[in-house]
Order: sequence, then C-alpha cells, then structure tokens
Amino acid sequence: MIAVNDNFGCLPMSYLFSEVGRRVAGFKSENPEREIIRMDIGDVTQPLFPVVAEAMHKAINDLTCSDSFHGYGPEQGYLFLREAIALHDYKSRGIQIETDDIFISDGAKSDLGNLGDIYSKNCKVAVMNPAYPVYVDDTIIDGRGGELKNGKWSEIIYLECDPSNGFLPALPQEKPDVIFLCFPNNPTGVAIEKKELSKWVDYARNNNSLIIYDSAYEAFVRDERIVKSIYEIEGADQIAIEVRSFSKTAGFTGVRCGYTVVPRNLKGTYSNGEAVSLNSLWNRRQTTKFNGASYISQCGAAALYTEEGKRDIKKITDYYLGNAHIIKRALTNSGFKAYGGENSPYVWASLADNIDSWELFDKMLKRFGFSSTPGSGFGSAGNGFIRLTGFNSRENTERAMSKLK
Ligand SMILES: *Cc1c(COP(=O)(O)O)cnc(C)c1O
Repeated sequence: MIAVNDNFGCLPMSYLFSEVGRRVAGFKSENPEREIIRMDIGDVTQPLFPVVAEAMHKAINDLTCSDSFHGYGPEQGYLFLREAIALHDYKSRGIQIETDDIFISDGAKSDLGNLGDIYSKNCKVAVMNPAYPVYVDDTIIDGRGGELKNGKWSEIIYLECDPSNGFLPALPQEKPDVIFLCFPNNPTGVAIEKKELSKWVDYARNNNSLIIYDSAYEAFVRDERIVKSIYEIEGADQIAIEVRSFSKTAGFTGVRCGYTVVPRNLKGTYSNGEAVSLNSLWNRRQTTKFNGASYISQCGAAALYTEEGKRDIKKITDYYLGNAHIIKRALTNSGFKAYGGENSPYVWASLADNIDSWELFDKMLKRFGFSSTPGSGFGSAGNGFIRLTGFNSRENTERAMSKLK
C-alpha cells in the first residue's frame, strides 16, 4: 500500500459541523412539534443578483458559439476582471495595487491553503485564537504544526483573542514567519481600525514576517475608521498578501470566485540568501497547479463592478448586517455578552457564568429552538462562546430572536 502524508494522521477529526447537524437532527426527532431555526449557517441564503445572472447567461452563450468560445483562460484570471478589481477595489480608494498584483481564484479557501506552497516548510506560523479553521488545518497538513498538546499545536504561535483585548490580539512574544490575520473576523465578528492594524504592518516589516490577510468580509465594513484592505496602510505591499472572496459579498458560495493580491513589491529569500519576488513564485505555482477560474464565474464577478452590481452588494450586505444587529440586540437584552455584529455578519456571544460551548449550544437549542455554532470549534479560546450568523432570512432571524424574550 502507498505510504501517505503522515500529517493527515495528526489532523483531528473535523466533527464541528457534523456534530451540530447530528444534535439538531436528534432534537428534531425527539420533538417533532418544535420548530428549529438554524442560526449557525456559514453559508449565505439570498440568491444571485440579476446583473450577475445576466452576465453569466451571456457568458454561456459566448461558449456556445465558435467565434466567441473560450477554452483555457489565463491562469491568473481574465484581464477584464483583474482590471476591474484593481480600479474599483484599490485605485479608486487611493491604493496602488496593479492588475499584475492580482490573481483570480476559485475562492479564498483554496488560496489560503495553497499559499503554503510558496513559503518554507520551516516557517513558523501564527494564527488568531479563535480562528477560521483553514489556517491551522493547512499548517498541519503541510507539516508545520508540530504536536498537539492540550488542544494546541507545539509549532503554532497562538494570538489569543478574548474580551480583555476586545478580540484584537497583542503582538507575539515569539517571532512568527507567517501571520494569518482576518478582519472583519470570522468567528468573533470584530473589525480592526487602521491604527491597530498599522502595529502589525510595522511588526512584520521589522521582523521579516509575512502577513496573510483574509479580508473575505470587507464588503460588510461601514465605519470609515475600519480597515477594508491591509494595503490602506503604508508599506503593507512589502509584507502582506491579501485574500478576498465574492462568496459572502455577493452570494458566490456556489459559483466560486475570489482573488488574491500578491504585490510585486513583496520579496522573500531562498535558503542561500538570494532574494525572490513572491509574486513570481505564486505565478509559477498557479501556472503549474491551477488552470484558472471558469470564464462563466469570472464574467459573473465582473458584473459586480458595474453600478448595479455595487448597489446590489450594498443592499445585500445591509440586509445581513441588519440581521446581525437584531441578533446582537436580542442577545444583549437577554443577559448575554455579545460581540461583533457591526461591520460583520457574525455575532459572538457568551453567558456571564462560564458554561462550556456545547452546553450553551444545547441550552439554546432546547430552550429557544435555534442552533448556533459552538465557539470551541474555532480553537481553544472559543470555549464558552457560541457564534450566530446574520445569514439567515430576516423573517427567520426575527422569529428565532423573539424566542429569547
Ligand atoms: C467563507 C470564508 C472564506 C472562504 O470563502 P470562499 O471564497 O467561499 O472559499 C475565507 N475566509 C473566511 C474567514 C471565511 O469565512
């Protein structure tokens, strides 16, 4: 039999979402008369915008005629989309990111994992605790995790986020090579101000660290002081990769399209000391292992940069933000400590008396008839918390929250 990647043997079973599903189903079968509302959904519920659907229909028509047929596209993505991104997401906001810095992907999750191909196996990785599980799991699969001891990996540096620091981690004591940051954050729903993120950019510049900045939720930012792109900070193009997605912004979770910015100013070194541009390494990696996102999804994504597309994004994110406000207010009024939910679709909550995440999950399910995501699934610092999302419909959100009264 084939020898396999031992690192998979180290990965704990991912049971979070299946366990949530199992408990919900169990409760349903014991209480068939009770209505259960899913407040744990990490997927969006509202459909694609008409302007996107129209662009995708047109793209399909292109593919059905021999003179407008598109086969393999550029691995980096079509120029029409990269130009729209450079213009609307960066240059028009005063940020010097060029078309050549942008790589279109089939979504943020794959790139967040694949980026591990271009930094050394010896790199020490730092993650926020709690965090979106992809950063830790990919670090383990790539062999950078070390051993699991008391719920933490020996080679990973944990950036602790809790109410005492407002879920904004302190700079690490031990020097990481790669730092995963995510703002507005999943799961805590906390966003970051420019002054605070500047500390991280300075730290990375002074310590030769690379920041991988997950900004999947930038479209939910409303407050002027909150950062949308890490490149708003001077010098960040020398130390940061930014990963973005149309999934939560525009209902692309099933369509699949996102992008990653690897600025040409970003340099690394081979072990012999020779300098190299990370942009050229990522380009080499993508041209070898990726054949591009589909023409149809890229045409759909480009439609998001029309006036109609921009209006639709504002409208849909306003809708989910409205749900998050309803959730946060209801939880706060019922004696919970609730965080996030502003500039973010996520609300992170705990009860004053420190009960464990699964206990809290069960309690909410049984007493109030809605599900949540136990915070412990996002890392040890998530214990005692649950995550509720603004992604359900307004009607379901209101109904679930009215039960808290
Ligand atoms: C949903 C999510 C992603 C992944 O998005 P896709 O583009 O659908 O792969 C990435 N990062 C965070 C923090 C997310 O919540």
